[in-house]
Amino acid sequence: MMHFSEHVEQHQIDIRYEEVTDLELGDTIKRVRTYNAEYEARAILYCAGASPKPLGVPGEDTYRGRGVSYCATCDGAFFRGRTVAIVGGGDTAAEDAAYLARACKQVYVIVRKPFMRAAASLQRKLKELDNVSILYESVVREIKGDGMFVTGLDLIRAGKEETLAVDGVFAAIGVVPKTGLLKGKVDTCNQGFISTDEYMMTSIPGVFAAGDVIQKVLRQIITAAADGAVAVTGVLRYFDR
Ligand SMILES: Cc1cc2nc3c(=O)[nH]c(=O)nc-3n(C[C@H](O)[C@H](O)[C@H](O)COP(=O)(O)OP(=O)(O)OC[C@H]3O[C@@H](n4cnc5c(N)ncnc54)[C@H](O)[C@@H]3O)c2cc1C
Repeated sequence: MMHFSEHVEQHQIDIRYEEVTDLELGDTIKRVRTYNAEYEARAILYCAGASPKPLGVPGEDTYRGRGVSYCATCDGAFFRGRTVAIVGGGDTAAEDAAYLARACKQVYVIVRKPFMRAAASLQRKLKELDNVSILYESVVREIKGDGMFVTGLDLIRAGKEETLAVDGVFAAIGVVPKTGLLKGKVDTCNQGFISTDEYMMTSIPGVFAAGDVIQKVLRQIITAAADGAVAVTGVLRYFDR
């Protein structure tokens, strides 16, 4: 199998490592501005990704990377034999809890509602795990630490204040699309993800979007790559109009 860079080389694709600061989306010509340059294109494929939603509580920024994490698969190994909390009630939170339960001593899942939104099969799996406790109707108020690392969190559980001793806090409450450059220019769904047609074209002809930034069911590397492949087909079709 050919490596990505070899593939790019073979097709003599010109890659520029620059930050895009502005997009001008005319009918026939689109302009892409960066800090140093301006490029013209007949079509644009926008794939700026999405970032994990922060919990927005005191202590989160202080202990980010020192107990506060947004990726169980990336950071789980640091918490082997420790106690952790996962905040969220969806599929990601449930999957993360099951994953962390393999290595951690105790896993708390902190769910705002009196039920989880995660798939029933995932919830069943969690209930079978002795070291997973689901705390419903619970909201994190503050992440506590000793100045270096997370030591616990304060929460309101069913209306009462509680303190939980944990070594790690994993936020799994969703992602925010990086749509800044297209804000107000293309149609988005109610959570701000970009709406596309089946060819990944946005509401502006010639402007395509793919990956985490679009409205879709599953945000993973494999689906982002697949979106990209579909979008390229869409761009070629757009050129042939
Ligand atoms: C913490 C975490 C863990 C994950 N773990 C997994 C996993 O184990 N398996 C899996 O399949 N998926 C995982 N995912 C999801 C996966 O990373 C994404 O679905 C995938 O990377 C989406 O690809 P993308 O190209 O849409 O966005 P990204 O990979 O986020 O790429 C977006 C790119 O756009 C660039 N960009 C943004 N704005 C600008 C700008 N103004 N100018 C220039 N460049 C810009 C960014 O720098 C970035 O390089 C994880 C996601 C997160 C957040």
